[in-house]
Amino acid sequence: KSKNNGGDSYQFYSAEMNVDSRESLLLEHQLRDALEQKQMLLYYHPQYELKSGQLVGFEALIRWNHPELGLVSPLDFIPMAEESGLIVPIGEWVLYTACKQMKAIQDKWKLPLTMAVNLSPRQFLHPSLVQTVAEVLYRTKLKPCFLELEITESMVMGDIDQSISKMNEFEKMGVSLAIDDFGTGYSSLEYLKKFPITKLKIDQSFVRELGRDDNDSAIVNSVIALGKGLNLRVIAEGIETVEQLDLLRQEGCDEGQGYLFSKPLPVNALSALLDSVLINNPEGLTQMGQKS
Ligand code: C2E
Ligand code: MG
Ligand code: MG
Ligand code: MG
Repeated sequence: KSKNNGGDSYQFYSAEMNVDSRESLLLEHQLRDALEQKQMLLYYHPQYELKSGQLVGFEALIRWNHPELGLVSPLDFIPMAEESGLIVPIGEWVLYTACKQMKAIQDKWKLPLTMAVNLSPRQFLHPSLVQTVAEVLYRTKLKPCFLELEITESMVMGDIDQSISKMNEFEKMGVSLAIDDFGTGYSSLEYLKKFPITKLKIDQSFVRELGRDDNDSAIVNSVIALGKGLNLRVIAEGIETVEQLDLLRQEGCDEGQGYLFSKPLPVNALSALLDSVLINNPEGLTQMGQKS
């Protein structure tokens, strides 16, 4: 129906939009108090080295435990947090909570595991990010080499010189950087070689069709080869089937995470996983010493 001959359909749509924007205003208002109300929590997604099958770390993934809606996905509130600027305090909470959790894991299980934390564009561009990260590491006593920050291509392409200098500061500090969702943003190979990063994360959209779609398989294989050429580690996310895992292993992909291994875990499920890792790897303590 067009606006001209359907006056009431126009009203219908505008009424819908009002409800939506009222709802999102309400959510944004509630988001403001969510941290203080302790409604934010982190899930931890295990990451494995594919050759050995060893657990190598976790990615921290935020959820909002909303009093009426239950667990809200980051896809449904991170954009709002980003737009309102709330992502800055939320992101700082994520960094602190994830680092503190990893320090606690290392103290108890003596395993040299890393913690990956997602950054949002606004957080990455914030002038005090480097200082915030330094303070979080100081307060939690986690060694910088165990923290990995996930950034995306589009985040750094805006002001490249400033982004590179920020990345250099992290490198100097000993914090590593991974490019998340690699292949879905503007990729400039020219810049990629200048970025002081250590890892590429192949986006799950390519992994999903691995072995079924020739183009996606070609993209995955190329990213793995690119990583090898640039001396970067490559991790595949979204591994759900044994077939995908086998293909990634064949191509020499270094690491992986996905539902095939585990879903993201709430904090109370970590102990069982880490106990089982330690039983299979009693050398954890010595390895921990080697990495420091
Ligand atoms: P991401 O960083 O690319 O994280 C991977 C997402 O894929 C996670 O969804 C994870 O649960 C999901 N995933 C991993 N393996 C599989 C699999 O095998 N199958 C399927 N179907 N999904 C899998 P999640 O937790 O909903 O997070 C979505 C996005 O929200 C993240 O994408 C990230 O961009 C953002 N995000 C999550 N936590 C944070 C945070 O603390 N800060 C910021 N700025 N963004 C976050
Ligand atoms: Mg990520
Ligand atoms: Mg990703
Ligand atoms: Mg993704």
